[in-house]
Formats: sequence, structure tokens, C-alpha cells
Amino acid sequence: MKHRRPLVGGNWKMNTSRLSSATLARAVVDGLVGLKGVDVAVFPPFPYLLSVGAILRERGSSIRLGAQDACDQPDGALTGEVSCAMLKDCGVSVVLVGHSERRHALEENETVVHNKARAALAAGLDVVLCVGERIEEREAGRTDMVNEEQVRLALREVPGEQIARLAVAYEPVWAIGTGRTATPADAQDAHAKIRAVLADLYGQDEADRVRIIYGGSMKAANAAAILAQPDVDGGLVGGASLSAGEFVPIVRAAAG
Ligand code: PEP
Repeated sequence: MKHRRPLVGGNWKMNTSRLSSATLARAVVDGLVGLKGVDVAVFPPFPYLLSVGAILRERGSSIRLGAQDACDQPDGALTGEVSCAMLKDCGVSVVLVGHSERRHALEENETVVHNKARAALAAGLDVVLCVGERIEEREAGRTDMVNEEQVRLALREVPGEQIARLAVAYEPVWAIGTGRTATPADAQDAHAKIRAVLADLYGQDEADRVRIIYGGSMKAANAAAILAQPDVDGGLVGGASLSAGEFVPIVRAAAG
């Protein structure tokens, strides 16, 4: 039996409007009223953080407000960037770091990911560190190597006492937004190997407490089988999180 409380995140990416983000937030809150045994976070676009946060608060929801990115610098002349302190000021408590779209489409390298992970943890934010292999890396048999390298590089110099605020999202790049998913067995295998890396870095007890969640075309129809794996502790959901009708059943499946 799993002893980790599941975590499900809805990554809205660069989607929704002021109006539709509010409608979606209300529908998700209403759909999850009274559900226990699972942590839920939504990651709206920056401009809608305050309005979505206000909806979560006014409805007394325990859904956490998340940000899709954060700058590693505290302030200064960095046009367009948003600091961890600004996010906290807006009610954000958890941030995605190293999402594959930022790594690959926006060319964030391992140093950037590492700096962001350190800055966000040091600022007191929870971090969902996203890792995962590209299709050519998978086909070359490098999946575990890529995941290990991404975890080790991102967490360099991150002290053990901050690891309680870390979750890792295993998101094979070829599964994100494509309709393809890892098989439950492949997801379990990757998650177990990532946990072994965390155990090497921080000890088995700490590693056993870290939630490792799966992302990549998770939907209401395929969630239960993936979430049933012993080392899969929830999901990071992109496309399907834009519909409460899809997202709510995924969260319910995670709650068990
Ligand atoms: C994501 O954005 O992290 C993601 C997993 O997207 P999708 O569910 O659309 O594949």
C-alpha cells in the first residue's frame, strides 16, 4: 500500500482567458467538493493567478495555486520575468520547474533548471521538478540515464531539509500533448529508477516520501491504470486539465 498522499496538478499552459480561467476554476472546485485524500494544484497562466486564487479562496477550496515557471533571481532588470517572491505575494505556493516545453521549445538548459529549482525551494515554494526523455533518447535506450541526469543536475546543492517540498514529475517528452502515454509498466519502471536516484542523493527514507507523478496525455480513461502503479503518486495533467469533466475524474482516480 502506498503511504504517499497523491498529488494531481492541472497545467493550463498558455491557454484560457480571464473569463474561461474563472469558469474552469469554479468547475474544478465544485467538482472536487468534499473529496479527501489527495492534494490538487492548478497552474494557470501568470495573468490569471490572482483571479483564480481569489476563486479558490472565496470557495474555501484546498486546491493549491501553482505557477508554471519562476525566475531564479529575486528582483532587478529582467524584463518579463516573475520572481518567486512575487508569486508568493500572489498566493502561489507551488511552481513547475523544468517543464519539457521550457527545456526544449524555450531552450532552458540544465543550469537554468537547476537555478530555478534552488531559488524556488530556497524561497519556500514547493517545486514540481519535471524530467523526461525525448523519443530519440528512449529509442536509444537512454531513458533512465536522461532522467537520472536531469534529477541530479537540477538538485545539485539542494539540501536534504528542502526535499520535503519537492515532487518530481516524470513526463516523457514524446507523450506530452501527443495522445500517446507510457504504459503503466514503463511508467512504474521509470518512477522506481527516479526514486532510486533520490535515495542515492538523500537516503531511502527521504526518497520514499517524495511524490513522483506521471505526466503525458493522462486522461480520465487511462489515469486509473497508471495511478495504480506503486511508485506513481499522482499526475501532472496538461490538455485534460482544461476540462473539469476530464480533470475531476482523474483527481478522483488518484484519491482512490
Ligand atoms: C503537461 O503539460 O505537463 C502535460 C503532461 O501535458 P498533456 O497532459 O497535455 O500531455
